[in-house]
Amino acid sequence: MSSDKFSSARAYPARRVARWDEETDVVIVGFGAAGASSAIEAAAAGAKVTLFEVGAGSGGASALSGGEIYLGGGGGTPIQIQNGFTDDTESLYTYLKMAGGPDADLAKVRLYADNSLAHYHWLVEQGVVYKGTHIPTKIIEPETDDTLIWCGSEEAWPFSEAARPAPRGHVIQWTGWGGGRKLMDVLEARVRKLGVDVRANTRVLCLVADEDGAVQGVAIRDNGAEKFIRARKGVILCTGGFCMNRDMMQRYAPNALVSNDPIGVVDDGSGIVMGQSVGGDAIHMDQFFTTCPWYPPESLVKGIMVNIHGQRFINEDCYHGRVSAYIAKQPRSKAYLLLDNDIFGRPMEFSRVDVAATGETWAEVESELGMTAGTLTATVEVFSREAAKGHDPLFRKAAKWLKPLTKGPFAALEMDMSTSFFSYFTLGGLNTLPTGEVLARDGKTVPGLYAAGRATAGLPRWGEGYSSGMSLADCTFFGRMAGKTAGAKLS
Ligand SMILES: Cc1cc2nc3c(=O)[nH]c(=O)nc-3n(C[C@H](O)[C@H](O)[C@H](O)COP(=O)(O)OP(=O)(O)OC[C@H]3O[C@@H](n4cnc5c(N)ncnc54)[C@H](O)[C@@H]3O)c2cc1C
Repeated sequence: MSSDKFSSARAYPARRVARWDEETDVVIVGFGAAGASSAIEAAAAGAKVTLFEVGAGSGGASALSGGEIYLGGGGGTPIQIQNGFTDDTESLYTYLKMAGGPDADLAKVRLYADNSLAHYHWLVEQGVVYKGTHIPTKIIEPETDDTLIWCGSEEAWPFSEAARPAPRGHVIQWTGWGGGRKLMDVLEARVRKLGVDVRANTRVLCLVADEDGAVQGVAIRDNGAEKFIRARKGVILCTGGFCMNRDMMQRYAPNALVSNDPIGVVDDGSGIVMGQSVGGDAIHMDQFFTTCPWYPPESLVKGIMVNIHGQRFINEDCYHGRVSAYIAKQPRSKAYLLLDNDIFGRPMEFSRVDVAATGETWAEVESELGMTAGTLTATVEVFSREAAKGHDPLFRKAAKWLKPLTKGPFAALEMDMSTSFFSYFTLGGLNTLPTGEVLARDGKTVPGLYAAGRATAGLPRWGEGYSSGMSLADCTFFGRMAGKTAGAKLS
């Protein structure tokens, strides 16, 4: 077989396969959190599972991650309760619905909210350890091995009015950032214990399908040799997103390209393209998560964010990613964080957020930023006047974060999507049922094809609503669903 026969954008016709090199029940493509969770459940359902991973071992973006998972509801996880919080399922449902944006997948949101507590217990059964301690301050990821953090906009308007807030970021016990590697080690151990046949350094080149699009297997490249693998029960695509594929980014999500900081490993969109090759529908392809870690220190949250015209545009107590998504939409994708001397601080160095202007008065800062006289000063004056009374009538920032910005000297920190660290990854992907079955444009399922994780548009599908932990929640939970469905299917 010569390799020019294969393109992820074209399914290989099953009728041209003279001989299958191998047969299995379920083929899983990709060994990140979604692939591992799919493999565990498919194997637990009694299926023979073969998992192909182009990299040298388990990992993907999942291993780079903080290992934080968005969990709650059902009265509260043991960790929430241990730290004095309760969490009702309806509040979790409402929060996830709002976070999913105007096209939230309500079936997935319902299923996840109803089963999030059980999913917590499943993770613990797999071997995930939570230390159980809570960090009350606003952070990005724990520097310590603590567990429970505020990881979204739960306490901020409009979410706080619609859903009772609770901290839901559950971080695997691991000292410092990057608990995702530990999470993957735990899941990998379970995958191997269940006898899944793991093939690293093996790229899945394309799907193999009947003329009507029914998926029969895959073509792989294994040690330079191309082979056909038959999947009797189905193929599960768990290949991650497409933030590293410049052409796809240009076509679908060009607004993210203002930033130079995609985060991921392979993320070339191959699974999405394979799904499309058999009629799978890819949705919300313009959506991406982006964040500039502009806090901690949390005193900065008491500052106000203005665009280049000196206008506020959001309540700054929202999740750092929601604020960043709003910055991305401002003129020149740029904002200034205005601070007075009481709250001045510097974000972590890697954020590349620098001081753009200082002054003894706000008028001096305004002039140094080159803004029209009276614009920034009016914004600060109105904000400070109302903050002194304990409100923010324009953007409804919570009283806890309100403080008149009146103690000079004053400073403006610059957050510019093209020069500051605005990391991003994609949220669009294949449209799937909660069972993991891939949907075609006509709403019918593509026979034999499943997908999970960032190869799909899942719970997180709206940049403005994303909260930390939602992607891994989606990958692990709906990865499990895909594995259960494919593993149990009659072949
Ligand atoms: C620095 C960082 C921190 C993050 N922190 C968090 C966090 O704390 N919580 C959270 O919820 N989210 C977090 N995220 C996002 C989250 O990690 C990812 O969205 C998620 O892990 C994606 O998982 P996945 O299984 O879909 O894909 P991946 O983990 O990327 O796995 C996909 C795998 O498929 C393989 N693959 C791709 N194509 C092929 C092919 N054709 N053949 C064979 N193999 C293939 C890849 O090599 C890869 O190993 C973070 C992301 C980053 C980068």
